[in-house]
Amino acid sequence: MRQSFQFKMFRSKRLKHLDRTIDVASEIWNHAVALKNRYYKLYGKGLLKAKLQSHLAKLRRTRCPHWKAVDSQSVQAITDRLYLAWEAFFKGDIKRPPTFRKCRKYRSFTLKQSGYKVLGHGRIKVLGRNYRFNQSRPITGIVKTVTVRRDPIKDFHITFSCDQVVQPQQAPKTGLTAGADFGLKDFLTLSTGEKIAAPQPLKAELRHLRKAQRVLSRKQKGSKARKHARLDVARVHKKVANIRNDWQWKQARMLVTVFDLLVFETLNLKAMQQLWGRKVGDLGFADFLIKAQWMAKKLGRDLVKIDCWEPTTKTCHLCGHRQDMPLNMRTFVCDGCGNVECRDVNAGRNILEAGRRLRPGDTSKTPSGASVVITAESHLL
Ligand SMILES: [Zn+2]
Repeated sequence: MRQSFQFKMFRSKRLKHLDRTIDVASEIWNHAVALKNRYYKLYGKGLLKAKLQSHLAKLRRTRCPHWKAVDSQSVQAITDRLYLAWEAFFKGDIKRPPTFRKCRKYRSFTLKQSGYKVLGHGRIKVLGRNYRFNQSRPITGIVKTVTVRRDPIKDFHITFSCDQVVQPQQAPKTGLTAGADFGLKDFLTLSTGEKIAAPQPLKAELRHLRKAQRVLSRKQKGSKARKHARLDVARVHKKVANIRNDWQWKQARMLVTVFDLLVFETLNLKAMQQLWGRKVGDLGFADFLIKAQWMAKKLGRDLVKIDCWEPTTKTCHLCGHRQDMPLNMRTFVCDGCGNVECRDVNAGRNILEAGRRLRPGDTSKTPSGASVVITAESHLL
């Protein structure tokens, strides 16, 4: 399995060299984009990657010696990225073709086989200089590439992308399954009746963020003070993202460990955002789902996503009767069989059923009835 390991690099004055390398890498990127565009305008066809690569290599030797700050294979990695982005654009995965990028917004460079040497625990040589990073866990597998990344507040991270990583033993089967309904009031409602609340870090930091943005807007463009103010805003954003990511990883691992099969409903996030605004982004449903999927793959669990157009809220999970459920109605009272249940729990059970239908041959049991409700906290102990 392919996996990456990311660590934060220790601050030191030496990092300015990596900073400079990323600046140069952005210059090469922009040059490559310009060349490719111009070639298309002149000849009406795409420029071959090998041709572009040899041209850039020539420039690096002759007209642009300062490009030597970037390793020759890193230059190739830049063109690799450019062509991957073009492919993704033609396939329709991304909406816009790759284009020019501001130096400030260019984030990283990648080393393939050369240009780095791991010296020991938390120590690495990159482009001839030694650096230290906070190695919080062992790096396993075979290192394929090393990427140095800077973020807007000039923190540097180093990422080792490794092949053939041996995964830890898969979690023992528990025989439990659950359907989960995303909501704004409770982040997740499980078909077992459990509700999971999520932190809203952006809401908590909103006052700080507003203040930082107000300060920024009053600074003169291009001034040093504006630069500092911009970093302050970026710092608040980073804190918010850190809190959200940390919680989501822990929650995803917990859910995946407890349940053999998890069913989620995909959401129409654009529509939700229009209806509910900032809170949707702050909860980060989509990011959570990606993390849960990765965790499920790692621990050998099943995670099923069902279509968002299934009428999961409107259907009674016992008798299948359908009725209208306006948003303010929190309890589902079935007109067909008289079943009374929490709106979201009913939806969660329907989601689980829909997921099971997608996965025939699934025989594991759902705990039903209040006496067998599984609380996630009990599994954490
Ligand atoms: Zn019913």
